[in-house]
Amino acid sequence: MTDLLSGLNDAQRRAVATTEGYVRVIAGAGSGKTRALSHRFAYLVNELGILPGNILCVTFTNKSANEMRQRIHQLTGDNDTGYINTFHGFCDAVLREDSHAVQYPRSFLVLDNSDIDAMLRIIYEERGLTLRDMTFSAARDMIEIQKLFKRPDYYQDMITMSLDTLKEKYDRADTPADIIFYGYLYQEKKCFGLDYNDLIKFSLYIFRQRPDIRIKWQQRLEYIMIDEFQDIDQLQYELMEVLCGYHKNLFIVGDPDQTIYTWRGADVKYLLDFDKKFPGTQTILMVENYRSTPEILAVANSLIDKNRNRIKKELKPILPAGTPVVCHFAQTQEAEARWMAGEMRRLHEAGTPFRDMTVLYRAHYVTRAVEEVLLEEKIPYTIYSGVQFFDRMEIKDALSYLRMIAYKDDLSFRRIANVPKRNLGKRRMEFLQEYAEQRGCLLYQALLDNLEDPIIKGTGAGKFISLIESFAAGYEGRPVSEVLSAILNESGYEKMLRTEGSQERLDNLAELKQSVYEYETTCGEEVTLEHYLARAALFTNADTAEQGDRVKLMTVHAAKGLEFPCVFLCGMNEGVFPSRKVRTRQAMEEERRLAFVAVTRAEKELYLSEADGRNFDGSPRYPSRFLLDIDEKLLTFTRPPEEGLIRRARDYIGHSQAGLPEADGQTVFPAGQRVRHALFGPGTVLDTDMDRGAHVVQFDEMETPRKISFRAKLERI
Ligand code: ATP
Ligand code: MG
Repeated sequence: MTDLLSGLNDAQRRAVATTEGYVRVIAGAGSGKTRALSHRFAYLVNELGILPGNILCVTFTNKSANEMRQRIHQLTGDNDTGYINTFHGFCDAVLREDSHAVQYPRSFLVLDNSDIDAMLRIIYEERGLTLRDMTFSAARDMIEIQKLFKRPDYYQDMITMSLDTLKEKYDRADTPADIIFYGYLYQEKKCFGLDYNDLIKFSLYIFRQRPDIRIKWQQRLEYIMIDEFQDIDQLQYELMEVLCGYHKNLFIVGDPDQTIYTWRGADVKYLLDFDKKFPGTQTILMVENYRSTPEILAVANSLIDKNRNRIKKELKPILPAGTPVVCHFAQTQEAEARWMAGEMRRLHEAGTPFRDMTVLYRAHYVTRAVEEVLLEEKIPYTIYSGVQFFDRMEIKDALSYLRMIAYKDDLSFRRIANVPKRNLGKRRMEFLQEYAEQRGCLLYQALLDNLEDPIIKGTGAGKFISLIESFAAGYEGRPVSEVLSAILNESGYEKMLRTEGSQERLDNLAELKQSVYEYETTCGEEVTLEHYLARAALFTNADTAEQGDRVKLMTVHAAKGLEFPCVFLCGMNEGVFPSRKVRTRQAMEEERRLAFVAVTRAEKELYLSEADGRNFDGSPRYPSRFLLDIDEKLLTFTRPPEEGLIRRARDYIGHSQAGLPEADGQTVFPAGQRVRHALFGPGTVLDTDMDRGAHVVQFDEMETPRKISFRAKLERI
């Protein structure tokens, strides 16, 4: 017991030892919330004798789930780490066990973006749509929006309708949006595929329809803990409510200042109103910050303090004073990147390994300039965020081979039946397609049935079938890494890459094998092929590229919950960070929270930079308002920023700020605007007080100006 509690402060100890009932921790960045959560898991297991399989611990990303699993493994020494997962990953586990309740096989597929794209390709081809009608990424967004907001009952169609009825809906659809949407549902059902949204919807549906299954899961999950609760959305909340309904032991931690996913439906009210929904909630606050130096925290406090819509709280440093936060104004993006590379070299020569340095940015495109310079300067780096690694052709192909062994699904078949070339080109594929449609069978079955047909005979089909059959007969019980190596070899896939001279692709495959192997050896339980494939569909690049002494590059969103010794936050320009997409004051506050998340990732050193000058369209670039938000006494400038630039930037920001509506619907007027108030009558806006959220208005009938809250409706006249 002493071990588990000794590295914790009083509040953390209370969080760990208050095991029963509803417990909420609200605390700032770096205050040890996640640490308390993992110690609590270990405490439940080691001290109370709870079985890990009866604990659900929800994390926000797969990366943090992995880290948590390792930490728990260390703390408990137990291989069984229970359910430590994202909401999606947990729903995957529910459905692997209970998808029979909706007549889906246990071996359903989890679809990722490129699977969805493959389906879109089929739909576009069948119905003569082009990317001019809708790009794939717009189509994916459209499908997601339809599923989440416009047709929240869509899943009932997927579950209750026969494939034929769905097909009819698709055939009858006549607008591109309907064609794509129903075409997609049809394609999904056809291969028993589920995307991320479906995972949660299907689980909730099963829990509603089948009390027996619901009670089984409720009884199983004796303790539930959720990290990053400020970013929970409605579906996840519903799921949580259901799951804790029996034992009523629910532990949540969050920080309202780090809500950064409202654009995807997250709502901080679930954290703030938790005690009203769950009477008897014990709330624990933590104020000390163990992560960052006082210099970094002062910058973070100064920044987030500019948000009006927040509950005031300050991060209090525990660590001793460190080095000042450095700010660099560069003239071009290249110059900015060069400066960063220079600082990296300097740090490296002084003994900081590259892996301790992380570049954070608002949007992926910012990396281009950085990457170019790092390549030139021969500073090793890895790009993390996003799905790049698993989106690469060779990785998708390799996983498709594995899926062929386990599922023989059409998506994988299309992908690799003719890779390497087996003479199964377009014409033969069309033949198989037709055959499969007539019989309602898989393409793989179609090929199997027609091996002797003159059209297929003489191709590499026979060898392909015997390859898949022999693996399918023998893969169970074999380590996945071994199966993977063997099939890449025996299928001729690697040989093909070698002949093409694609060393980089071969390296990526080696990386994949390595990651499977590491997963098998650290996971604890036995890893089945199906288990691995479900996981592979869920995770991103962030899970694999950990090795080596490399600078890390990632978006701020991907850095959530993590910490790094040295952080370079770059591209701090208006239009980049804050993004030019920000349209309301609420969205601007979320953007500032995002900047706050970025700053609070840093442990020892923080470097802020921007590149002014001009955009490619000739418009001027200004330093970010978030740089100007920070009290300049807290920053050490590499050279004093030019006064004129700061003045112009403030002008620009003032103007763009004045035009922003509060939320959708509320308007902020610029000075000089004539307005009418319901009671005070006509007047003129003199100024806006952004901190208080009010217009300063001189009403015609009054001696002195009044502050009128943005909430009160002023009419433009
Ligand atoms: P975030 O809001 O960014 O997710 P957090 O509140 O989850 O932050 P942690 O990641 O748990 O914070 O902790 C931040 C750092 O402080 C970690 O390196 C952690 O090990 C360390 N830490 C937490 N609590 C203590 C403690 N009581 N004593 C020493 N170090 C601690
Ligand atoms: Mg955390």
